[in-house]
Amino acid sequence: MDKMQTSALGTRLFVIAALAATAWALVYKTGVASSDEAGIVLHLPEQVGDWRGVDLLFCPNRDCGAQYSAGQLEDPTVCPKCGASLGNMNWAERSMLPADTGLVRKYYTRPGGRDPLHATIVLSGNDRSSIHRPQVCMTAAGHEIVAERVVRIPLAGPAEPLEVMVLDMAKSYSDANGAPAVYSSYYAYWFVGKDRETASHLARMFWMGYDRIVRGVSHRWAYIALSGQRRPGSDAHLQTIADFASQLHPALLKPE
Ligand SMILES: [Zn+2]
Repeated sequence: MDKMQTSALGTRLFVIAALAATAWALVYKTGVASSDEAGIVLHLPEQVGDWRGVDLLFCPNRDCGAQYSAGQLEDPTVCPKCGASLGNMNWAERSMLPADTGLVRKYYTRPGGRDPLHATIVLSGNDRSSIHRPQVCMTAAGHEIVAERVVRIPLAGPAEPLEVMVLDMAKSYSDANGAPAVYSSYYAYWFVGKDRETASHLARMFWMGYDRIVRGVSHRWAYIALSGQRRPGSDAHLQTIADFASQLHPALLKPE
């Protein structure tokens, strides 16, 4: 992205931020109905294209932190290591998200082991602030964001392309011999509200404020994330994300 584009984008984001701030200021002075309506179903399909998904289970015990795929356990309710009750949120999610937050997650693999990825849907509960800007969590977890861009993904039929934010990340660690190594991964996400989809956190904040003021409602927003490994210096993961997201998208739509 060149300088001019960057500054134009910066101005646009500033305007959106200013509008969102105004919207929030107004929200506190008006009565708003909360609605349970979400823009998507809280469910991930078993099959997406030639990917097959399995459920993942997490131990809520911070000191244990074990993770399993559902089929791997005889009793999928109890952690075999420490005896805690397993659930679909990891320790960090359980401690950060309100209890009524909806979350589903699957690990998807393809024949031949190509392009495995994690898919997650987080649906906000009564506390609409439960969905945060993901960049904050990523950097807090020690990932460096090396690239950040919005990718437009064509969808079947007359639908507008889906805009997805893609973060390229790198995390330094020491390998088995103690030598410095880098783990390269990607994190792609977009937000879905009732009749709205956006890759931009600020746009989502704006629409939340707008719907509260103009429509007088506060719907539940969802956040859809895809993550996996990437090859440093290659953009091949963008195609993987596009293939998966375009095939997942129709399965997320709510039946009318
Ligand atoms: Zn455990």
